[in-house]
Amino acid sequence: MAAAVSWRLGKLDQDLIKITVIALIVTRLIPLPWPKRVPDRHIARRADYPDLHAMVDEIADALGARRPSQVCFAPVADSGTTRLGPRRSELWIGLPYAMGFERAELRAVIAFELAFLEAHRSWLLSALLEVWTSETRKKPAVRAELGAVAKALLTQADKVGCRVADPRTMANALLRGGLMSDSFTWFGGRYATDLPSYGLFPVDLYQGWRWKVNEDDLLGRIMPRYLELHTTQTLRGGFTIDRLAELGATLEHPPQPAENPILSALDPTVEARFARWLGNLLSNPSGVYWFVTFGEMPDAVWDELIGHLHDRVLQATAELVGRPNPTLTDLVEIVAGGRGTEIKWEHRDSLCAHSSAGVCALFPVLHRNLRLKGYRYTHALRQRQLVGPGGDRIDVVRLAQGIEHGDQLPEILAPTASS
Ligand SMILES: [Zn+2]
Repeated sequence: MAAAVSWRLGKLDQDLIKITVIALIVTRLIPLPWPKRVPDRHIARRADYPDLHAMVDEIADALGARRPSQVCFAPVADSGTTRLGPRRSELWIGLPYAMGFERAELRAVIAFELAFLEAHRSWLLSALLEVWTSETRKKPAVRAELGAVAKALLTQADKVGCRVADPRTMANALLRGGLMSDSFTWFGGRYATDLPSYGLFPVDLYQGWRWKVNEDDLLGRIMPRYLELHTTQTLRGGFTIDRLAELGATLEHPPQPAENPILSALDPTVEARFARWLGNLLSNPSGVYWFVTFGEMPDAVWDELIGHLHDRVLQATAELVGRPNPTLTDLVEIVAGGRGTEIKWEHRDSLCAHSSAGVCALFPVLHRNLRLKGYRYTHALRQRQLVGPGGDRIDVVRLAQGIEHGDQLPEILAPTASS
């Protein structure tokens, strides 16, 4: 964005072009489990979304950028632009973004994308981009060296973005955008990506994610791990932590659900089409035979998925204690002894909603044991909550947190006295 504006002011020199290209590469190189290219679209016609079009036009004019020829919604948690021809371009906004941002934050996002589109317009930049991309592919280490330069440019771009949004709003947009993207990826991984192997996929994927964000505090619950990961892996997400600090953001409180988004939902048929598209894409060749709602999903599927996690935790526990077939009691001893991080399994490498590695490890094992004791699910999308045969409710995450801090196992899970 900074480069685009400087270009218009006639200040762009060779160095800045190079820096811009680096920034483009760094920001677009972050690996995403979700597909980056977005073939499916829902065109936001001016007659149907007058507020959105008015916003895009106003921002383009304010930045002196060309207005995009069309505006679309896309099925991923991201935003971007596509050149359709020499004078035609498209701005696409991921459905989770359109639903999740406050209007003021969405302005900042649109400004960022339009500015990047301007930068892409130069043939010189495109040519350089190609060279750099091929170079980066050969030498991945180069990326890290370019980091400092890219960071400076991005920070500068954020400042220019403050032309259409104040710094606090800009910071909120950056944090919320990061949390939404990662929460959508997390949600997909936890509740959707494994389902095609059972021939299933949730047709209400977007409604489900929206429910987790708005009703189940998903952004707040993933934020501690999100900040931890971004602090230790600076290339992740384009230097988010440093940029937030530059903008003066306070990071104690996660963003609350948007009060006045420009869009609360798309037509259910469009959301279902997006879900089907993702489902088919995730199982290649398509193995999805039943598109059902989360409410219709059989409990056995969730048990199987949590069962896999259970098995991997116990495998890692066996490696740690040095003998096969460890029990829940062995695991409790490790976690309560403050050694949760020593359990080596892949789950903790990525984002999760748990407060610590110990809770992560305890969750699937406690969950499975409770299911075997007859505890039932209460909500397909809030699987940490189980209800017992006697009607007692257990929040498995809270239970794990208590155990980590020294609480005893509940009676129903306590090991039977051995003679
Ligand atoms: Zn976890």
